Amino acid sequence: MSAAATELISVNPSTLEEVGRTPITDADALHRRVEEAHAAFADWRTDRARRQGLLAACSVELMRKLPQIAPLLSQEQGKTVEDAGNEVWISARCLAHHARVAWDDETPGVEAAGRSVVIQHRPLGVVAAIVPWNFPVFLMMAKIAPALAAGNTVVVKPAESVALVVGKVVEILNTVLPGGVLQIVQGGPEVGQALIGHRRVRKVSFTGSTKVGTAIMRQAAETITPVTLELGGNDPAIVLADADLAACATTLARNAFFNSGQMCIAPKRAYVPEHLVDAFCEAFSAEMANLPVGDGLAPGTKVGPLHNRAQLDLVTELLEKAVAGGGRVVTGGGRGTDLPGYFLEPTLVRDVDDAADLVALEQFGPVFPVVAYQDVEDVLATLDEQEFGLGASVWGSTEAAEPVAQRIEAGSVWINQHNALEVELPFGGLKSSGFGREGGEEGVQDFLASRVVSTKR
Ligand code: NAD
Repeated sequence: MSAAATELISVNPSTLEEVGRTPITDADALHRRVEEAHAAFADWRTDRARRQGLLAACSVELMRKLPQIAPLLSQEQGKTVEDAGNEVWISARCLAHHARVAWDDETPGVEAAGRSVVIQHRPLGVVAAIVPWNFPVFLMMAKIAPALAAGNTVVVKPAESVALVVGKVVEILNTVLPGGVLQIVQGGPEVGQALIGHRRVRKVSFTGSTKVGTAIMRQAAETITPVTLELGGNDPAIVLADADLAACATTLARNAFFNSGQMCIAPKRAYVPEHLVDAFCEAFSAEMANLPVGDGLAPGTKVGPLHNRAQLDLVTELLEKAVAGGGRVVTGGGRGTDLPGYFLEPTLVRDVDDAADLVALEQFGPVFPVVAYQDVEDVLATLDEQEFGLGASVWGSTEAAEPVAQRIEAGSVWINQHNALEVELPFGGLKSSGFGREGGEEGVQDFLASRVVSTKR
């Protein structure tokens, strides 16, 4: 995007053909949209039952429009049309869940004769929701559903490369919601910065990289605007000696390459006992044979392209460096298709050193390193030193796995599963994976502030 650009151009990452264009929101339009959201707040905050009814209706409408949204999501993002449909489905479930979340005023027990005290939980005002490109529909919904349920109004800023599909979903929701309640602004980082800096914005909810999250927190500090940060992850899978190796390798392979590995809580590396590495790699590779690469819209495709050139270059470089450092490609390593897009086929690498960038950084792509270990204490010590704390999984008998899981600092820890997310459960990170929670009832609390009203009669 050049400095003078007035529109965003969406490109299909499989074919590199243009999908469509979206006007960039200029400063005046951004100001108007935030002011409209502020004006709509006065009424929207007043009636929870009405909000719940409208969110439930949004859920139904989104499912009705799934056949229109899923192919566009696939074309613009790159994921398979089946996965795109599932993303719309879970987004509709997210709306339905938040249509049911309720909370009450509290009486704290300090009341006395002639004095009443009540703790109220009140919405904040206009929420800025800034979202990335990997799950553009669901990650937006994970913010707007709780924020709207709590009585806030929302201005969404999607990633610039998925402007069409997010714009379409907002348009659909706005056929149900009252005017002004849900707004969208389109553009790159500068549009996000202008939104965060607007005086009417009372909360920023951000999902994206740790680097940008840091910049957003710094900017929000200027106006003491509260932030929720859902940031990067580098989830380890720790395989114990008594794990069901076939089940573990199969599940990890499916999860590692889901969305071409571009998922914050994908398993991004496995720690495997040295004597089991051969068997693990064999079972993992067998499952990889069931993951054909191709255009997300083509029948039978299980793994689409990476979303953009920068992501492809980054993951390719990490792979090359790992191989130069002694890593061995077991399966994959090629493009997997003749299509011109940003393809890298699912790739399994073994004999990788723990300190290699492919292991230590968030690779966010379809390359999965296996690190051999002798003592699980060494693995736990390594994890303790690392910056991310989003998710982790431990594989083995419950007796062996539970004590290991207890010692991992992460927002989600799974035993004998990975990436088992539910909209009814709180989700978020620790350490530099962020703070604040989405989902469950806690996710709504993130968009409320308590206020004490104390009355002397
Ligand atoms: P990104 O951080 O580059 O961008 C995310 C959004 O922020 C985009 O809309 C972008 O335009 C906007 N933005 C960029 N700079 C900004 C600024 N200075 N001020 C305001 N807005 C700004 O992330 P991405 O590359 O789109 O997504 C990939 C990253 O997201 C990965 O690190 C991944 O782990 C993370 N992620 C985290 C979660 C989670 O829930 N923890 C979920 C999905 C993705």
